[in-house]
Amino acid sequence: MKKVYFITGSQDLYGEEVLLQVAEDSKVIAKYLNEKIDGVEIEYCSTVRDEASCVEACAKATNDKDCIAVITWMHTFSPAKMWIKGLQFLKKPLLHFHTQANEKLPYDSIDMDFMNLNQTAHGGREYAFMCTRLGVKREVIVGYYQHEDVIEKIKKFIDVARAVDFSKNLKVAMFGSNMREVSVTDGDRVESQIKYGWNVNYYGIGDLVALVNAVTDEELDAKMAEYNQLYVMNTDNIDSVKEQAKYEIALDKFMTEGGFGAYTDTFQDLHGLRQLPGLATQRMMGKGYGFGAEGDYKTSALGAIFWEMAKGREGSTGFMEDYTYDFTKGEEVVLGAHMLEVSPDFASTQPKIEVHHLGIGGKEPPARLVFDGVDGEGVAVCMVDMGNRFRLICAAIELVKQPKEMPMLPVARIMWKLKPDHATGAAAWIYAGGAHHTVVSTALTVEDIRLFAKLTDTELVVIDDNTDLNKLQSELDMLDIIAKLK
Ligand code: MN
Repeated sequence: MKKVYFITGSQDLYGEEVLLQVAEDSKVIAKYLNEKIDGVEIEYCSTVRDEASCVEACAKATNDKDCIAVITWMHTFSPAKMWIKGLQFLKKPLLHFHTQANEKLPYDSIDMDFMNLNQTAHGGREYAFMCTRLGVKREVIVGYYQHEDVIEKIKKFIDVARAVDFSKNLKVAMFGSNMREVSVTDGDRVESQIKYGWNVNYYGIGDLVALVNAVTDEELDAKMAEYNQLYVMNTDNIDSVKEQAKYEIALDKFMTEGGFGAYTDTFQDLHGLRQLPGLATQRMMGKGYGFGAEGDYKTSALGAIFWEMAKGREGSTGFMEDYTYDFTKGEEVVLGAHMLEVSPDFASTQPKIEVHHLGIGGKEPPARLVFDGVDGEGVAVCMVDMGNRFRLICAAIELVKQPKEMPMLPVARIMWKLKPDHATGAAAWIYAGGAHHTVVSTALTVEDIRLFAKLTDTELVVIDDNTDLNKLQSELDMLDIIAKLK
């Protein structure tokens, strides 16, 4: 299981008795958090009492591949010059937990011994100065460690830290390259690896075709039985469905054998495949694999990372594309879909398997899952390559039920409203250079994306109820200037 190290700050000045008490309290807090938070082991590491113990603790966390984050807590005062070398060593997401062993002040008995032992208000500030001076990106959470809202904040930090760790080890397979002439889906793959850890490599579609051709009758029968159990078979063209079933089996093998967490394809490079993967890719997304159409490796990687971040939460997460609008005054909505590839994680109705002609790519009509989408508050997030840095754009959106049936639309879809209103939200996205491909999630919030951007030191533009187009354009100008100064 992944680990979070709890490192406590103190110093030698108070004597061994105090340091024993510091360690004891630290164990109690780490144990409490560990019991309250699932999916990760929160473990008291050690108390920093001088530079050497600080370096040792930070190096231990950095070198432990199972460690996804570090929580630091200043129980007493801890002179921060002794933290410099350690913090320079530390390469894991950092949470500065500004808490106390005690909730309330013991007004009747408080004396100087108590004050010296329980002075996070004091020691936390000394430590914070050094983090800020060194430019250490970190999350600060303030409050008593047993308070529910504090625990919730730590859980969210751990979700994002887990996603950052996942990102550092993510492999993305590109079947074919980027769609010809398309700009926003392209990007600097070397820089993506330097900054986020994504290992993005090209594979000939023939490598997948070989696995498709090797699918056995037994594998195919089992997959078709699964489809029949889960979905409504709304087609007579079973041959087309079987073709997609083979693609799913082949993709599963390819991804598992290669250790990939995400992939892209493109309808411009399907040599040896009779159809564009539709149902197959939908199924893969439903299992948590990241996907980007038309060679969009950035959205593919984000999809896998956000799925990891959303693990254990309610809600849906997947690849999406802004397609078309309803411009009715006051009732404006975006219809989001893709040619085929909409994750069944978004389904609010039992998906139907249908086969329809696809007017692009010149291949056989592909099978796909068709369904109406979920509703609820969510985010739409994209990443664009600005040439000298990556930019994340995060829009707060409200997914809504489709206002009317769309019986002729042969693809799954979701619909949403923009914030603060349709005209402002869409214009803001466009000013920011936002892509047509996004990852949409009703499991994640703007705050999660903010934290991810902070911990990965990525530029972020947020579009929400507070967005004002004039201020936004000034902000974008400022971001260009800041990036040039870096
Ligand atoms: Mn597309």
